[in-house]
Amino acid sequence: MKALERAKRAGSGALWGTLGLLYPPCCALCDSALEPSQKHFACPSCLMTIQAIRHPWCLRCGDPLETPGIDLCERCAHESVSFDWAQSVALYDGVLARLIQKLKYEQERALVHELAPLLEKHLQDEQLADQFDAITFVPMSRKSLQRRGFNQSELLAKRVGKLVAKPLLFLLQKIRETRSQMELSGEERRQNLQGAFIARPHPTLKRVLILDDVYTTGATARECSRALRECGWEQVMVLTLARTPIARSEPNAH
Ligand SMILES: [Zn+2]
Ligand SMILES: [Zn+2]
Repeated sequence: MKALERAKRAGSGALWGTLGLLYPPCCALCDSALEPSQKHFACPSCLMTIQAIRHPWCLRCGDPLETPGIDLCERCAHESVSFDWAQSVALYDGVLARLIQKLKYEQERALVHELAPLLEKHLQDEQLADQFDAITFVPMSRKSLQRRGFNQSELLAKRVGKLVAKPLLFLLQKIRETRSQMELSGEERRQNLQGAFIARPHPTLKRVLILDDVYTTGATARECSRALRECGWEQVMVLTLARTPIARSEPNAH
């Protein structure tokens, strides 16, 4: 970790992806030595523990399904949602949760290079890339953006757009500050975000993929999709890196 600490102290966080010397010689999570040629931030054994979500999942909201042979989860069977589908690469757990936290709260922007390929792989494996014309991302309010200095979802979307050769469009805007979703229950999350986003149309493109880091109750995904649909986007899909399955994480959330 010494090299990483030195690099951080030197303020080189933003340089990690551009100079070639960019990856620490040891795993950012377990400290084991890394092959410099591999240009990874975490070691293969840490990365291998990321638990990809496997079929069956709800064809609408993407939550893992316990019962094979059904298409929709209990909730989606009774309630309509504003997106065509939402999916996530893996569960918000262990190594992936730590990598996302490092990206968000420890300013490790180089992690985008580690995490964006997971999103790209999911799009390729599930043959989803033909379903959308452009990529956008969940925005932050101006105040939050100033506080963090960057929007991790925007960085991921930009990188994934390059990897799958789709344009990144700045379609959504968060027009008011909201309380942190972390501290709220499912119903409160919905109310908290109501009317918080506005969207803009595109003259020719009609199908868009929203990228975000974590899907929890889906309140953010629903609000962003609703704003996009209201201004003329015909198909709206959502892909996140990680997901906290509602049933497991929040017994009272919906
Ligand atoms: Zn490791
Ligand atoms: Zn569902």
